[in-house]
Amino acid sequence: MGRFFQRFYSDDEPVYSCLGCGAHFAQYKELLSTNFRGRTGNALLFNNVINVTAGPLEDSVMTTGLHTIRCLYCVVCQERVGWKYEVAFEEDQKYKEGRFILEEELISSAPNGPTEA
Ligand SMILES: [Zn+2]
Repeated sequence: MGRFFQRFYSDDEPVYSCLGCGAHFAQYKELLSTNFRGRTGNALLFNNVINVTAGPLEDSVMTTGLHTIRCLYCVVCQERVGWKYEVAFEEDQKYKEGRFILEEELISSAPNGPTEA
């Protein structure tokens, strides 16, 4: 299969990256919601995420109903960092389809990101 292709966002774009290896995952502007729960605690919903590989489809019953998801792994260090929603079975959860969850504990925001005043 050969090498993975790690992609990088531009240095002036604040990004969320892998806590373990620093691979870029998502830009701040892709963040949709911080109001999610992951295995380790808080989780963030993103419109798009890079440098991850997705596992096989699995059904997962969450507090918001049944979903079909794929686990997401960092392409560099293979850490399981979140999941992707493939199918949401409840009408009011459909907005999550095709979106990505990253666990807050497993990602870090870049030093050039927005800072608290
Ligand atoms: Zn990593």
